[in-house]
Amino acid sequence: MQKPIVFSDFDGTITLHDTFVELLKAFSPPGLAEELMSQMYAQTLTLRDGVTQLLESIPSDQVLNIIEFSKPHPIRSGFPEFLDFLEARNVPCVVVSGGIRLMVETVLADLKPRLLGLHAVDLDTTGEYFKVNSAHVGDTELMAKVDVMSNYEFDQSIAIGDSITDFKMAMAADLVFARDRLAKYLDEQGKDYVAWNDFFDIRDYLIQHWS
Ligand SMILES: [Mg+2]
Repeated sequence: MQKPIVFSDFDGTITLHDTFVELLKAFSPPGLAEELMSQMYAQTLTLRDGVTQLLESIPSDQVLNIIEFSKPHPIRSGFPEFLDFLEARNVPCVVVSGGIRLMVETVLADLKPRLLGLHAVDLDTTGEYFKVNSAHVGDTELMAKVDVMSNYEFDQSIAIGDSITDFKMAMAADLVFARDRLAKYLDEQGKDYVAWNDFFDIRDYLIQHWS
């Protein structure tokens, strides 16, 4: 009997848009997010250094505004039904986000207890500006998702993602669902993946392949 586990990204994966990118653009000094983001996408600046610099440019008194900003962000369709499907098959789901916990927990709200784990970047807000506090910092990533994966027991890892922060996790996973930029990065590496658009696509694929 196989023991699968699902590792899902959050921003642009569970949420419809890349909420974290939107947040960085809205709260960091004008132009800084665009400048650093294009360097991160081109992989000339590490996620660890770029995202840290952006988050630490935001004043700590923005916490409540960030919560308000996070609330209306829509979830991609089929996510609650996907969780129903996983629960019926006893397959755990872990959310691994390179974004900030404040935002992830605000958007997920009542879905959070249905996850086996939720990993995201924590912020220290006691100083004038945010200070990044990640439990899983890697060489190039602020949230080393492969590190998080190794804390769980499984014999089949399923990764779901949409962008550059999911690249290493996807390369390490047994089965990958990729959309948007992540699909392009994987094409370049010749790594197999299943293209997806919403969580019904993923559920339907697994129904077919697990039966
Ligand atoms: Mg993402």
